[in-house]
Amino acid sequence: MRPVTPSARRARRRERTSPPLHQIRRRSGKLRCLYAPGVERSIVGFSQDDAGDWVAALDCFHRQHVRHDPPFRSAPWVLDQAARSGRVGAALDCPLCERAELPDDLVVARTTDWFDEETMPPGLRRAHRVAQGTWGRLRVDSGRVRFRAKTHPIIDVVVGPAAPQAIPPGVEHEAEPLGPVRFRVEFLRPRDDRQVT
Ligand SMILES: [Zn+2]
Repeated sequence: MRPVTPSARRARRRERTSPPLHQIRRRSGKLRCLYAPGVERSIVGFSQDDAGDWVAALDCFHRQHVRHDPPFRSAPWVLDQAARSGRVGAALDCPLCERAELPDDLVVARTTDWFDEETMPPGLRRAHRVAQGTWGRLRVDSGRVRFRAKTHPIIDVVVGPAAPQAIPPGVEHEAEPLGPVRFRVEFLRPRDDRQVT
């Protein structure tokens, strides 16, 4: 029998004591493990992809594979129709929301007026949220806006005219003009205004 090395022992202890690994990101060339709680969404339905794998539709309009692939992933319930129905309404972490990735097939339902650093509603500078079921998109015409959102890890970016910033539903965020600026916020919904299932 091979002796158990200290590093193997440490790895085993980590396996026993660690919460589920949420995300691994490479920053500054180093692997970084994050165990923060995710942005939780509700399952609204299931569909199968071309390979026959089950995909959960979430109330943020993202989709997420739920695979039963032992021993790597265990979700035997996903193979059973009644069990799947029982999971509708259950919570699932959504990494795409954490990264504020706008789901496909949303269209602009309304927009705010153009604001500048003087005319913007003061509430936008403080923590606030877009309603559930609606995505926001910060569009800067000129100047720069610092945008922060309480995802895990937090998003803290400077938004300029080059690229708009998507804002996930229900996630606290704030906007701070960095000097003279012209911007507006678009609100997006599914094209037919129904949940994608
Ligand atoms: Zn999502």
